[in-house]
Amino acid sequence: KKASIGVTGLAVMGRNLARNLARHGHTVALHNRSEQRTRDLVEQFGDEGDFIPAYSAQEFVDALERPRQIVIMVKAGAPTDAVIDEFAPLLEKGDVIVDAGNAHFADTRRREAALRERGLHFVGTGVSGGEEGALHGPSIMPGGSKESYESLGPLFEDISAKVDGEPCCTHIGPDGAGHFVKMVHNGIEYADMQLIAESFDLLRGALGHSPAQIADVFRTWNTGRLDSYLIEITAEVLAHTDAATGKPFVDIVTDQAEQKGTGRWTVQTALDLGVPVSGIAEAVFARSLSGSADLRAASRGLPGPSRAPLTGAAAESFADDVERALYASKIVAYAQGFNQIQAGGAEFGWDIDLGAVAKIWRGGCIIRAKFLDDVSAAFAAEPGLPTLLTSGDFRKAVEDAQDSWRSVVATAVRLGIPAPGFSTALAYYDGLRAERLPAALVQGQRDFFGAHTYRRVDREGSFHTAWATSDRPESPA
Ligand code: NDP
Repeated sequence: KKASIGVTGLAVMGRNLARNLARHGHTVALHNRSEQRTRDLVEQFGDEGDFIPAYSAQEFVDALERPRQIVIMVKAGAPTDAVIDEFAPLLEKGDVIVDAGNAHFADTRRREAALRERGLHFVGTGVSGGEEGALHGPSIMPGGSKESYESLGPLFEDISAKVDGEPCCTHIGPDGAGHFVKMVHNGIEYADMQLIAESFDLLRGALGHSPAQIADVFRTWNTGRLDSYLIEITAEVLAHTDAATGKPFVDIVTDQAEQKGTGRWTVQTALDLGVPVSGIAEAVFARSLSGSADLRAASRGLPGPSRAPLTGAAAESFADDVERALYASKIVAYAQGFNQIQAGGAEFGWDIDLGAVAKIWRGGCIIRAKFLDDVSAAFAAEPGLPTLLTSGDFRKAVEDAQDSWRSVVATAVRLGIPAPGFSTALAYYDGLRAERLPAALVQGQRDFFGAHTYRRVDREGSFHTAWATSDRPESPA
C-alpha cells in the first residue's frame, strides 16, 4: 500500500501533523534529514495509524501515490530550499510540494514560479496553532494552484480544526497568498496581545488591582463578546503564582518581549503596500521598546505625572470602560489587518475571500475568537467592505465605546501609563472619520520646499505655487 501524503521534517510540527493525518486514517510516508526522528516517531506513535518510514529521499518518493503530495515542515529559509532541491528532481509532472513552515510569502512566490516551470505544484501553506494545533486540528491556509487544492484540500480539511462542523481550512489563493495571510494573522496576533497586555497594565495602574483580581476580570470578559483563546490564556497566566517565591507569575518574568519576526514582516510588507497597520506596528515597536534594556535603564529617572489611582465613579466604571476600549481597538486592529490582505490581494493578483479567511481563523489558531463569526458575516454580507469599522455591528460597537475609549486613553495619558495600542487605534479611527486632515498642509510644505505639486479640491489637475516670488502665483504643473 502506498501513502496518500508524505511529511518530511519531523521535529515537533512535522511529527504532530503526520500523527494528525494518520489518526484520520490517511497513510503517511515519513522522512527526516536525520534518521533518528523518523525511527522515534514510528516507535512512539506507530500504533496511531499507518506510517511508511523512509530513510532516503528516493524511498520516500517511491512510497507515495500519484500525484505525490509531500509536506515539508523544516526550519524556514535556506533549509526549505535545500529540501526542495533534494526532492524536486525525483518528482514528476503534477506532483505537489507543500511548504507548511513559516516562509516569507515572497520566498513562496519565488519557489512557486520556479517549480511551476518544472511542471510541479508548489503550495505555500500557513499552519497556525503551534504544536497542539498541528496534532489536534490547526487552522490551515494553503496557497498555490486550484488544481493542487483538489487533491490536497480534502486531506487538509479533514485534519483541520472544525467550528460548527466547518473546517478551518480553505484555498486562499495562488502562489504566496497562503503564507501572506498567515503572516497577517501573526501581525494581528501581535496587536491583539499588546492590547490585552495594555488592558492589564491599565487595570493594575489605575485601580491598583492584583494580577489575581485582574484574572477574574478577564474571565468575566471571556464569557462575552471578547470570548477568545488569547483572553482565556491571559486569565490563566495572570492567576498563576510562582512556586518558588509565591509572587504573581507576571512579576517574576523579565518584562522584555521577544519576537521571531512574523510581526515585523507584516509591518515591513504593509509599509511597501502603503497600508496603515498602525496597531500591528505599535505592537511590534512595543516589544522592541520592552527589549531595549539599556535605553530603558538610562530613561528610568525621567519625570512623569503622579500616579494616584482612580477613585469613586471613575474607578467603579473603569473595568467596563477598558472592556469597551479593548473591543473597539481590537476591531481597529483586525480592520487594518484585513485591509492589508485586501491590498496584498490587489498587488499580487490574488482573489482572496476575506469572509472565508475570517471563518478559518475561528478555530485552531491563536487568534481564534467568537468575534471572528461577526467578521466573517460582515465580509460575507459585503465582500467589498472598505473597512470593518463601517459594518453594522462593529459600527455600533465603536459608537457605544466612544466615551469609554476616549476616557481610557485619557486616563492612560494622565497617569503616564503607556498605552500605544489603545492610543494608535483611537488616532487611526479619528483619522479615518475626519472631514479634513492636515495632510493638506503637508502637501503645501512639500510644494514649498520641493515643488512636489498639489491637487485642488475645486479643479482637476496638478498645481504648483511659486513660493519664492512675493506674489506667489499658482500655475498648472
Ligand atoms: P524547526 O523549525 O526547529 O526545524 C527542525 C526541522 O528542520 C528538523 O526536522 C530538521 O532536521 C529540519 N532541518 C533543518 N535544517 C535542515 C536542512 N538544511 N535540510 C533538511 N532538514 C533540515 O521545527 P518546528 O517543528 O518547530 O517547525 C517547523 C516549521 O514550522 C518551521 O518553519 C516553523 O517556523 C513552522 N511553524 C512552527 C510552529 C511552532 O509552534 N513551532 C508553528 C507554526 C509553524 P534534523 O532533525 O535533521 O535536524
